[in-house]
Amino acid sequence: MGSRTVLEESEISRALTRISHEIIEANKGVEGLVLVGIPTRGTSLAQRIAGQISRIEGTDVPVGSLDVTMYRDDLAKHPTRSPRPTEMPVGGIDNATVVLVDDVLFSGRTVRAALDALNDHGRPRAVRLAALIDRGHRELPIRADYIGKNLPSSKHERISVRLVEHDGVDEVTISQD
Ligand code: 5GP
Ligand code: MG
Repeated sequence: MGSRTVLEESEISRALTRISHEIIEANKGVEGLVLVGIPTRGTSLAQRIAGQISRIEGTDVPVGSLDVTMYRDDLAKHPTRSPRPTEMPVGGIDNATVVLVDDVLFSGRTVRAALDALNDHGRPRAVRLAALIDRGHRELPIRADYIGKNLPSSKHERISVRLVEHDGVDEVTISQD
């Protein structure tokens, strides 16, 4: 079955630049900002956005990585899924504005689990959500504050997010499952 490119390298780069500016504008700078990626690719995207924000504002932004595996409400369906490391910034997240970052937003269950997992690490002032792709089909009242691309999809389609850090190439493609 064929696959179609929905974002190429330059488009991913522009989307991340735009999201970085949107985060800075909404936060009125970088004060109290912490980016937290959901592994694996969400963490790489969080690092890229943090790099852009640092370049724009001239100040480093703490980046963390939050594994949500053990907090999932569908863990029984995926018992063999192995947890990935959680690394929160040394300054913690108390009173911070945490921006969760993931590659694809679908049912919203991963984000629900992430909110639960975050709770174990402190009490942020606010939590926002950034996703490179919003493919719709939400099952929970969750929406993203920052979106790279809205990509209406059928439930049977599969979106592949490939990033240089993991896949040697930056591209997003969609194919039939
Ligand atoms: P949700 O929990 O919202 O149903 O799904 C979001 C999580 O599953 C994200 O961490 C995302 O990486 C992954 N995911 C869901 N659908 C897709 C998809 O079509 N493509 C990719 N690459 N990941 C997906
Ligand atoms: Mg993911």
